[in-house]
Amino acid sequence: MCLVTCKLQWYTMRKKREPLQCREERVQIMTIQEEIRKLKQEKNAVILAHYYVRPEVQEIADYIGDSFYLSKVAVGLKEQTIVFCGVSFMGESAKVLNPEKRVLMPDKHADCAMAHMADVETIQRMREKYEDLAVVCYINSTAELKQHSDVCVTSANAVDIVKVLPNRNIFFIPDRNLAHFVAEQVPEKHFVFNEGCCPVHQEISIEEVRQAKEAHPGAEVLTHPECPAALLEISDYIGSTSGIIAYAGKSGASEFIICTENGVRYELEKRYPEKTFYFPETEPVCHDMKLITLDKILHVLKTGDNEVVLDETLREESKIPLERMLELAGK
Ligand code: SF4
Repeated sequence: MCLVTCKLQWYTMRKKREPLQCREERVQIMTIQEEIRKLKQEKNAVILAHYYVRPEVQEIADYIGDSFYLSKVAVGLKEQTIVFCGVSFMGESAKVLNPEKRVLMPDKHADCAMAHMADVETIQRMREKYEDLAVVCYINSTAELKQHSDVCVTSANAVDIVKVLPNRNIFFIPDRNLAHFVAEQVPEKHFVFNEGCCPVHQEISIEEVRQAKEAHPGAEVLTHPECPAALLEISDYIGSTSGIIAYAGKSGASEFIICTENGVRYELEKRYPEKTFYFPETEPVCHDMKLITLDKILHVLKTGDNEVVLDETLREESKIPLERMLELAGK
C-alpha cells in the first residue's frame, strides 16, 4: 500500500481517537512499517498480533486476533518465521504447535502475570484428592502449567469444551473469574477454583462502568469474562475479545461501553466507524502488551533475537492439551 493511501486510511480509522499522533510522528511510523513489510518478505516471515497491542503494530500484522484465533492460525503457516506480537505464553504456544518454525518475540520481557498464577504442586494435590478430575488450563498460562493439564481452553471456547469433557470434576486454572463464569453455565460439573486472575480485567472499576452508563444510557455494556462476577452481572453481553467485536457488529445499539483491554478499540473503530465505543474512565491497559513496538519488531526481524526455545519434553507434553483444545473446539 502506498504511504498516502496508508496515511489517509489511518486518519479515517483514528478520527474518533484523541490525541492524534502528530503528522511527523505518523510519517515516522509509516516509514518503519514499510521497512518491516520489506524485511518480512525478504526473511519469509509472518506477523501475528493480539488485539491488545498498539494500533500501529496491529496495522502491519498479517493476522490479528484473540488467543484462540491466533493459536489456530499458527498451525500450518507457510512462512518459516513467526513474529508474535503478544506476551510470552502466546509465543510459546505458537512454538509448541510449530516446532519446525522459528518464533520471535519482539520483547522477551512481555509476559502475562496471570499465566504464572497456578502451580504444579497444587495440580498434583487436586489429582490425588479428586477422582475423575480434568485439569482445564486457560491458554493464558505457562507451557509448564499446560504440560500438567488435560486440555487447554480460551475464553471463546471454554464453555463448549468443558461441557463435552467426560469428567465430572474440573480444576480450572489459572483464572478464577473465567472459571466462575464457565461453572455457572455448566452446572452439571463440580468445579474446583484456583486463585489466579488477570490484574487488568480484575481492576476494571464497576463504579466507573456505572458512571459511563449514566452518561450514555443507550450504550450496551460488553464485558470480558476475565472480569469479576459483579461486573458481569451488570453487563449486556459477556464474551471473549472476538466475541465482543462480533457482538458490537450484530447489535442494534450504536454505543457501547467496553470492559476489556483498550487495544481492542482499534479493531472496533476500524470495523464499525458508525458506532461509538467508550471505556471506563481508567482505561484498562495491559502494559506488557504495550511493550511491543515497531522498533522491536524491526530489530528481531533484522537480528533473529528473542527466539522462543523450549525443552523438547516440555514442548511435546504441553502440545497434548493444546491439540486437544483444537480438536474439541472443532467439533
Ligand atoms: S490482559 Fe491480562 S490476561 Fe491478557 S496478557 Fe495482559 S495480564 Fe495477561
